[in-house]
Amino acid sequence: MAKQQFKAESKRLLEMMINSIYTQREIFLRELISNASDAIDKIYYKALTDDSLVFNKEDYYITIKADKENRTLTISDTGIGMTKEELENNLGVIAKSGSLAFKKENEAKEGHNIIGQFGVGFYAAFMVADVVTVISRALGTGEAFKWESAGADGYSIEPSEKLEVGTDIILKIKENTEDDQYDEYLDEYRLRSIVKKYSDFIRYPIKMDVKKS
Ligand code: ADP
Ligand code: MG
Repeated sequence: MAKQQFKAESKRLLEMMINSIYTQREIFLRELISNASDAIDKIYYKALTDDSLVFNKEDYYITIKADKENRTLTISDTGIGMTKEELENNLGVIAKSGSLAFKKENEAKEGHNIIGQFGVGFYAAFMVADVVTVISRALGTGEAFKWESAGADGYSIEPSEKLEVGTDIILKIKENTEDDQYDEYLDEYRLRSIVKKYSDFIRYPIKMDVKKS
């Protein structure tokens, strides 16, 4: 008998995943920081074999910026960035882990550890955000694109602007409800403690930039 492929309702899967894979909401930050670090690693590895690319350590870092007034939390990196096609393939396909493939390829090269292997980390952002906006400019390109999604309803991609190569992940943090508190993800000290707890081993500087309201 010929085997049939399972079909899946991606909207439902995304909802299930967002609500049940992770036991603690705060780990969304670990996932986004690990993606940022992976993106910088990709430039690092590329520079090992590409003579036209020099890896100046001071140019590679991650920034976390909380804006209480606008309820946005932005995680930025100066990593490799994504083209329009990469935004489509990497953020539009759930549970296809790019970092797992990358890890397999590069594991032998050096003892560096690429984090995340399930291909779902990015979506953890929807545990704390109503809308996630990704503005990215890929290495070697002059154009930027904006990917935006409010979760299960899908996503849009349009041309955008960005001065430097890299990626900004902008989270529109949910409003507090009677049962759930989200304000803490805009609080400098809370964010610092989450970073310390989960991302202490990240090899690139993590800078905090807090706008007081
Ligand atoms: P994983 O990290 O396991 O691949 P994620 O859901 O965390 O799964 O991320 C999916 C993919 O999206 C990554 O593999 C990567 O290709 C891309 N991506 C996510 N964040 C970034 C970023 N900050 N810079 C570049 N690419 C990114
Ligand atoms: Mg990841």
